[in-house]
Amino acid sequence: MKIAVSACLLGEKVRYDGNSQYNEELCNLLHDHEVIMICPETAAGFPVPRSPIEIRGDRVMDAKGNDYTEALSEACQECLDLIEGCDLVILKSKSPSCGYQEIYDGTFTGQMKEGNGLFAAMCPENGYPIYTENDLKIIKEILD
Ligand code: SF4
Repeated sequence: MKIAVSACLLGEKVRYDGNSQYNEELCNLLHDHEVIMICPETAAGFPVPRSPIEIRGDRVMDAKGNDYTEALSEACQECLDLIEGCDLVILKSKSPSCGYQEIYDGTFTGQMKEGNGLFAAMCPENGYPIYTENDLKIIKEILD
């Protein structure tokens, strides 16, 4: 299978805090598959480390109110082109770019709300099924 995966889950240190979110169990499941690594935020040219961003209304901002919506939207579109032909997409939960079904609420207080990150929102619209690192059991069943 051809699978798009958030770069930070694969061990790339691309998160805002300069770390990864390496998930060994997920990586073990991916061994015999073609993996397309994506990171919308670094694709947008955001540095590592960087200020955290969250979705507030329909905008993507940092805590100071700097607006990154256009840059990130363009990068998400580029990432969508990169994952063409993928059978599924596995994304990092909670992120304003990759989070699926639940994201930080835009107050920078650690509170969550229902919603999708910018890139995660585009995937189902374009026919790609999304899973996160919290769906390892289902992912294993699909890949076995
Ligand atoms: Fe990980 Fe996605 Fe954030 Fe990049 S944009 S660091 S891949 S969660």
